[in-house]
Amino acid sequence: MGEENRENFSKAEESEKEQKNNELAAADFIRTIITEDIKANKNNGRVATRFPPKPNGYLHIGHAKSICLNFGVASEYKGTCNLRFDDTNPTTESLEYVESIKQDVHWLGFDWDDRQYYASDYFEKLYQYALQLIKEGKAYVDSLSEEEIRKYRGTVTEPGQESPYRKRFIEENISLFEGMRAGKFEDGSHVLRAKIDMASANMKMRDPLIYRIRHAEHYRKGTDWCIYPMYDFAHCLCDSIEGITHSLCTLEFENNRELYDWFLDQLNVECHPQQIEFARLNLSYTILSKRKLLELVEGGYVSGWDDPRMPTVSGMRRRGFTPEAIRNFCERIGIAKRDSIVDIALLEYYVREELNKRAPRVMAVLRPLRVIIDNYPEGQVEEMEALNNPEDTGAGTRKIPFSRVLYIEQEDFREDPPKKFFRLAPGSEVRLKHAYIIKCVQVVKNENTGDLVEIHCTYDPETKSGSASAGRRVKGTLHWVSADHSIKADIRLYDHLFTKENPNEEEDFITCLNPNSLQRLTSCQVEPSLKEATPGNIFQFLRQGYFCLDPVDSSEGSLVFNRTVSLRDTWAKIEKKSNK
Ligand code: ATP
Ligand code: MG
Repeated sequence: MGEENRENFSKAEESEKEQKNNELAAADFIRTIITEDIKANKNNGRVATRFPPKPNGYLHIGHAKSICLNFGVASEYKGTCNLRFDDTNPTTESLEYVESIKQDVHWLGFDWDDRQYYASDYFEKLYQYALQLIKEGKAYVDSLSEEEIRKYRGTVTEPGQESPYRKRFIEENISLFEGMRAGKFEDGSHVLRAKIDMASANMKMRDPLIYRIRHAEHYRKGTDWCIYPMYDFAHCLCDSIEGITHSLCTLEFENNRELYDWFLDQLNVECHPQQIEFARLNLSYTILSKRKLLELVEGGYVSGWDDPRMPTVSGMRRRGFTPEAIRNFCERIGIAKRDSIVDIALLEYYVREELNKRAPRVMAVLRPLRVIIDNYPEGQVEEMEALNNPEDTGAGTRKIPFSRVLYIEQEDFREDPPKKFFRLAPGSEVRLKHAYIIKCVQVVKNENTGDLVEIHCTYDPETKSGSASAGRRVKGTLHWVSADHSIKADIRLYDHLFTKENPNEEEDFITCLNPNSLQRLTSCQVEPSLKEATPGNIFQFLRQGYFCLDPVDSSEGSLVFNRTVSLRDTWAKIEKKSNK
C-alpha cells in the first residue's frame, strides 16, 4: 500500500496545484446565476435554498457536497437554507435516519436554525394541489397495473400510448382519488397521473405518476395516509411552499426540470423556484448510493453505517476525519456541470493537511519487538521531554518515560538488512526519537523455531536528545515505547473498501469488496500519555499515521484506535526532521 499511496498522494497534490491555478477562473456557474439574479432583483434579491434528504439512510460524502453548497450559498448571499426531510416513502424511512442526518449536518458545521421541515407536514396541501389538477382536467386516475403503465410509456425512440383510463370524467377522477385517500383500494390498483403528453420527447412528461397507494405506516404520520405523493410532484411544491428561490439538485434530475416547472405553472403558485442541476460527487474506490450502502450494512459486510470504512459522515467522523477537512475538500472539488470521479486520495490529502496542523504527536508501536538496553541501569526511569506538535508551538511538551526494556517496531529491525536500510540491524546505530542513540549488539532467537525473540542494544549516554552532544548524526530515527510504562491498545488499519476504482461499474459491487479493507492489530503498545485520551481524540502516531480513539469500541482500560490516514511519507520526512 505504501508506494501506491505515495503515488496517489502526489497525484492528489498535483491536482490540488492545478486547481489552485484555476482559482482565478470565475465563481462556479451556480453562484454566477445567483449573482445575476440578485442584480436583476429576481425574488426581490432574496436567496433561499434547502437541503432535502430522504430519511432513508445515513448521509455520505456526496451529501456533504450538497450540504456545503446549499448552506454555503445561503450564507454567502445572506440568505437562508432549510433542512427539509423529503419523507414521502413510508416503507424506507425512519426516525433513526432523521436523527443521524441532523447530527451530521450540525457536525459538518451548518445550522438551519428553526427551519426544519418535513414533506410529510405538507401532505394535506399536496393532496389539495392534486385535487386542483384533477378539477382542471390535468390529472386522472389510472387503473392500469404498474407493469402495463411501464409498457404504455414507450421508449426513447417511440412515443407512448395513452391509457384507456385517460378519458375518465373529472367527477369520476375526483371520487376515485377521494376513495384512494379513504383507503378503499388495494396497493397498486389505481394511481393518479398528470395528463400531459404520452408522445413527449421527454419521457418524464409522459403522464407521470403523482400519487400511488401504499398501505404502510409512516414513521411520523402513522396510518393517516395510505396514498403518497411521488418525488416529482412533492419536491417542486415543497420548494414552492417554503419560498425556495434556487432549488439545487444533481444532474440526474435534468430531465425532471420540465416536469418541475410544469406542475408549478399549472398550479399557478406564488413562488416558482428555479431548479439548477450540478454534478454529483463520485469518489474512486467508493460507493455513494444509499441503497448499496444499506446493502453493505444489512449484509453485515461492514459493522454498521458508522463503520470507519464507510463513506458516510458518521463513518468518516469515527475514522477521525474532521469537518474542516471535509468542507475544504468540498470547496476544492467545486461545482461542475459534468460528472467525473474524484480521486479519494484528494480527500485524504485534506484530512492530512488538517490533522497535521492540530493532531498531537505521540509514539505507538503497532507490532512490538522487545529491545533490552544492556548498559542502561535496571530500574532506572528517565522522563524524556517531547514536543507535542512541531507544527503548533502552543501545543507544549510532555514527558515520555525511558527505561531499560523498550519496544520498537518489528519492521524497524532486520537481521539481514538490504542496502540503504537506515533502521536497526546487527552492529548498526539508530536514534530513538526524543532519547538516545542505540546500537544493536545481540539477537536472541527461539532455539526451536528460529523466530526472533528480542534484541539487545547498548545506548550512548552522550547522545540524549536536546543535550549538547545530541547532534551526532545517524541515518535513522525510530519511535519506541517503554515496555513497563506503555499501555496495550488495539489498532485498526483501513484500506479502500473496494478493490476497483469504480465499483459502480461492476455487475455486482459486492464482488469487488476489498478483503483486506480492515486489519486488526491486537498487541500494540502506546505511550502512557494516551491514558488521558478521550474518545474521538485524534493523534499522529509518529511514522504510522493519524489515529482516532474509537468512540464506539473503546472503554475504560481498553483503547481502540482507528487509523484515519497513513502519513504522506512514512519514512524520509521524519528522518530529516529529527536529525536536524
Ligand atoms: P436516493 O435518492 O437514492 O435515496 P440520494 O443519495 O439521492 O439517494 P437524497 O436523500 O435524495 O439521497 O439526497 C439529498 C440531497 O443530496 C439531494 O439533493 C441529492 O441531490 C444530494 N446528493 C445525493 N448524493 C449526492 C452526491 N453523490 N453528490 C452530490 N449531491 C448528492
Ligand atoms: Mg436522490
